[in-house]
Amino acid sequence: MNCDICGNKAVFAEPSSKKNFCGPHFSAWYEKGVASTIEKYQMICPGDRIAVGLSGGKDSTVLLTVLTKLDLDAELIPITVDEGIANYRDDTILAATRLCDKLGLADKLISFTDICGKTLDELLANDPRQACSVCGTLRRRALNQAAREAGATKIATGHCLDDEAQSVLMNYLRGDVTRILESYQTDSDKVFLPRIKPLCRQTERSTVAYGLVNHLLTDLPECPYTKYALRAGVRSGLGKLEYRNPGTMMNIVTGQEKLLAKLGPREGEITPMGRCELCGEPTTHRLCAACTLIGKLE
Ligand code: SF4
Repeated sequence: MNCDICGNKAVFAEPSSKKNFCGPHFSAWYEKGVASTIEKYQMICPGDRIAVGLSGGKDSTVLLTVLTKLDLDAELIPITVDEGIANYRDDTILAATRLCDKLGLADKLISFTDICGKTLDELLANDPRQACSVCGTLRRRALNQAAREAGATKIATGHCLDDEAQSVLMNYLRGDVTRILESYQTDSDKVFLPRIKPLCRQTERSTVAYGLVNHLLTDLPECPYTKYALRAGVRSGLGKLEYRNPGTMMNIVTGQEKLLAKLGPREGEITPMGRCELCGEPTTHRLCAACTLIGKLE
């Protein structure tokens, strides 16, 4: 198999376009794809200060690396959240720190202990089954807080096309209509820092390939709570569907966007954002999601 552009040995076969790429041409193709996603969705404006959620894992490592290569008139502020997961997080934090050293960026660290006085392991000591929803809620809070403190104008996360398609399906599998329509039901954009996902049109397969081709990835342990995640089953099922029918994940994500665009914001149904009575974070309820969770777990 040879590169369709230069004829050298190909390292990546792109199933949707049926193109083969060598390492350098694959990297250029991947970076161009991210740049056009940023441009299409007008994700970054001149002078933006972008807080980049950097876990040290493959997606965020690729995200930060690609952002540094693009011609962006924006400052990048890597932020790593330490959830407090034994035998897992220390290695990924080390990977994040090493990447920032290599890129000449200063990594900011915030931990769950900083925001609620406990590690994720301590919060889940009695019941680990809700690990990922607790982790996700508190991580969002930690990232928001650290980004605000750093003076960021936006938060970039490494969610790729697979994550987006999985999230759409998971909302339907849970029957979570509120979350499906969430973006149209609150005025959250006015109080939360806008979130951008520059890798949202790149598959996980191509993102991992970019990491491998550019020698960015190291062997890291898997989070011990992965086994409790609904996402794991959805990921595996969707992966098989995508393999048999390339383009399935893109169809799920773009289909959802079209559906939301057709529904549109409905006058009189926008729930105004208030402030959490305990921590002052924005919320549509008396307590924000993070404080409600912490209260339940205590
Ligand atoms: Fe958090 Fe779940 Fe991911 Fe582990 S697998 S880091 S608990 S979201």
